[in-house]
Amino acid sequence: MSPGGAHEGAGRYAPSPSGDLHLGNLRTAILAWALARRTGRAFRLRIEDLDRVRPGAAERQLEDLAAIGLDWDGPVVLQSEREAAHDAAIARLTDLGLVYECFCTRREILEAPRAPHAPPGAYPGTCRDLDGAARERGRARMRELRREPALRLRAEAHEWTVQDVFAGEVTAAVDDLVLRRGDGVVAYNLAVVVDDAAVGVDQVARADDLLTSAPRQAHLAHLLGLPEPVYAHVPLAVSPSGARLAKRDGAVTLRDRLERGETAADVVERIGASLGIAGCRSARDVLERWEPQTLPREPWIVDLPA
Ligand code: GLU
Repeated sequence: MSPGGAHEGAGRYAPSPSGDLHLGNLRTAILAWALARRTGRAFRLRIEDLDRVRPGAAERQLEDLAAIGLDWDGPVVLQSEREAAHDAAIARLTDLGLVYECFCTRREILEAPRAPHAPPGAYPGTCRDLDGAARERGRARMRELRREPALRLRAEAHEWTVQDVFAGEVTAAVDDLVLRRGDGVVAYNLAVVVDDAAVGVDQVARADDLLTSAPRQAHLAHLLGLPEPVYAHVPLAVSPSGARLAKRDGAVTLRDRLERGETAADVVERIGASLGIAGCRSARDVLERWEPQTLPREPWIVDLPA
């Protein structure tokens, strides 16, 4: 089951505690756990609680993950307690001359002219090379708006390539991503890189809506002198209408299913079935019977009895 034997690295699952985990989240968590365990890796949990926190949600998520049979190594990391490490990473990039202040509003970024093939939403570089006077004007404007300038990375590449267990070699655009937002909160892209590396995560399994973010995160790891992980992006869960699965789609969380008289084992069985394996009653059954190369590449359409 663990062809490579013991491995020094770790996999992880990193939910945002904005509500209860739905079946798509639980499926991703099982797959991340199974991929880590079958390669002899440790498995880490991190709660990404830098914003949009619903009180009590993190505790409920941990209970749900345990209920479907996941276990994890070491303490659960709270991203909100990692401020010193995030600050140190920004300081390091600053020392390397790779950080600049950005005074743009969201609308200005959307409306700015950009290179013909720039990806939508990519930062056009407006504030990258401002002279001293222009920077002073920007700061004055921020004071009027009672905002801090955002801090951006001076990226050293336009694109970067990562390895993904399912998608193979993936190359995507890298832009001057935000490191710290105007409201002072550290940006997800920085936190994820710093926090994964801090606990030896070298296998990042998660939903594939983040596939195109992987190259910019790996580039950031590279600039920080951190190892670049291997990625494993798995398909998202969607409702029968094709939209990304959400609470409003009905009884889609483990708790909803339990209220309807199902058991955690029944829910795992649904997840196993979505992977083409009948009769899985706990995460361990998935670990023992799932072959990663058989992972369906299409989104999982979750169509549940009400
Ligand atoms: N916290 C993110 C989410 O719940 C996942 C981020 C990641 O795995 O890198 O969607």
